[in-house]
Amino acid sequence: MSDCLFCGIIDHRIKGDIVYRDDSVVAFRDILPRAPVHILIVPRKHIATVMDLEPDDLGLIGDIFRVAALLARDEGIAGTGFRVVVNCGRNAGQRGRPGRSLGHNGKPGRHPGPLHPRG
Ligand SMILES: [Zn+2]
Repeated sequence: MSDCLFCGIIDHRIKGDIVYRDDSVVAFRDILPRAPVHILIVPRKHIATVMDLEPDDLGLIGDIFRVAALLARDEGIAGTGFRVVVNCGRNAGQRGRPGRSLGHNGKPGRHPGPLHPRG
C-alpha cells in the first residue's frame, strides 16, 4: 500500500535497517529503539492491524515467531530473555507517524503493529 511506512521499507522506497527478509516477512530495527535489541518483524502482506487478520493469514503468525526466535539467537538475547509484543491500535502504541517507535500505525491502511523481539 503506497502510504504505508512498512510497505515502503519492504519495497525499498523508504530506508530501513533491514536485518532479515524472506518470502513471508521482513525484519528491521526500530528507528527509536526502546531496548538494546528492538526489531520490528512485519509480514510482506499489508495487514493493517491484528483485527484485520484473515484465516489465510494465520501462517504468517508462525512465520513471524519463527523469525523472532532466529533473530533472538542472532542478536545474542535468546539465553537472557526477550519479549515479543504485538501492538494493535493507537492506545497500544500503534502510530501513524514514523519516529514514534512502536507500530507506525494508527491510520486505516497502515501495516500491522509488528512483533518486537526486545531484549
Ligand atoms: Zn503496509
